[in-house]
Amino acid sequence: MEHIQTLEQKIDYLRKTLQEKENELFEMKRNWMPMQPNSTQPEFTTLYSRNENVTKVQYGNKLPKWAIERYSRQILLPDIGVVGQEKLCNAKVLIVGAGGLGCPAAVYLAGAGIGEIGIIDYDKVDITNIHRQILHGECDQDKSKAESAAETLKSINSNIKITPYMVQLDSTNALEIMSKYDVVLDCTDNVPTRYLLNDACVMTKLPLISGSALKMEGQLTVYGYRSQGNIEKEVYQGPCYRCVFPQPPPAETVGSCSANGVAGPIPGVIGALQALEAIKLLVGHKYEKLLVERLLIFDGDDVTFRTVKLRSRNLSCPVCSENPEITKLIDYEVFCKSQAKEKDVDLQILTPECRISAQKLKELLESSDKRHLLIDVRNEEEFNMCRIDGAVNYPIEQLHGTKVEEIKKMVHENSQVTFICRRGNDSQIAAKMVLDHINEDHKEKIKDLIGGLHSWSENIDHEFPVY
Ligand SMILES: [Zn+2]
Repeated sequence: MEHIQTLEQKIDYLRKTLQEKENELFEMKRNWMPMQPNSTQPEFTTLYSRNENVTKVQYGNKLPKWAIERYSRQILLPDIGVVGQEKLCNAKVLIVGAGGLGCPAAVYLAGAGIGEIGIIDYDKVDITNIHRQILHGECDQDKSKAESAAETLKSINSNIKITPYMVQLDSTNALEIMSKYDVVLDCTDNVPTRYLLNDACVMTKLPLISGSALKMEGQLTVYGYRSQGNIEKEVYQGPCYRCVFPQPPPAETVGSCSANGVAGPIPGVIGALQALEAIKLLVGHKYEKLLVERLLIFDGDDVTFRTVKLRSRNLSCPVCSENPEITKLIDYEVFCKSQAKEKDVDLQILTPECRISAQKLKELLESSDKRHLLIDVRNEEEFNMCRIDGAVNYPIEQLHGTKVEEIKKMVHENSQVTFICRRGNDSQIAAKMVLDHINEDHKEKIKDLIGGLHSWSENIDHEFPVY
């Protein structure tokens, strides 16, 4: 154990040293080579004079030889061209979330030569991430996602600056981090962070390219777009997230134990399109050609893309109107009644005497003198993937009407009934639902498994899959 800790400390130290050396190398390259991202550097033309023989600029453009060669396939596009490439090389993009959406988006932005990319993620790489989070490999497990992403991005393009942020973005740090960038990509998966990013983007006047992906469907739109104009009144401003969704959705999913499934290529498609919208926006496309006031919906089931019209900017929006009610960042977890880190949710709905540990459940199951029924309340796909032998499946979302009556009947016929789910939250909700509808003399039969199947796997059966 001690040896493992020492080794982990050594690896941590080496990673920090590597990061420092990479920053040092980046600074050296920036000073030596033209066209490295540096807002304080003089015009590129001036820099050429240093090594004019090598990178002689022709046809009036300001890109050096290496950049023309490297980015030639996109410079050839009339929509980008030399001027567009210069803008990309000077641009700074912040990607919030190094997961299913953030990874593909970052790959294309790094490839396109975005001068500076910031990538934020508080989480660590888990084996269940790798089917869609394409910047992480098997060897990155337990490593910070932001660091793992930054390392891969550096191997894709060493001419750009990558800054990993191993933090949870919140009201205390959002404005400071975001104000260093030109565009923000929302690649997160929870409602509180969506509102936080929106409000912070409105306050810092940054466009927000918002993506989402779940199961077989993905969505994409651009919030907070502002066109540049000489006269303030002529500046077009697109809707923000709050203009479209003034209130957070009901917090029904808070504490849900069901794992969200998603087909890997779905966030792949949406993340790639987020990068495309960012590139178009940075090279100067106007709102008519961007997903402003429009929501793109990709249905992977029947492979269709459609766009629906969103409402235009709400002139009395609490955050983006002329006289906003919200002028500083608030507590978004309170506002949305849900957590930004869903992994940490541990509900306490039942009293301790209604709950049993995995160890106790095992003992009860082994004492065969009792009829013990296990009711697994996960969805059917999860149940089919893995289950405790003998369990029956009653998905929690179907627990009403006749299903509750069926369970009440089963409680009468058995001497013990234990509700089970993935992590021990839904099982409490289901057990409480039945407890509320059953006679007093049957109540003590009903229990829920503390910590769910995660605890079962950890304490009883190490071969039981954790997902
Ligand atoms: Zn608004």
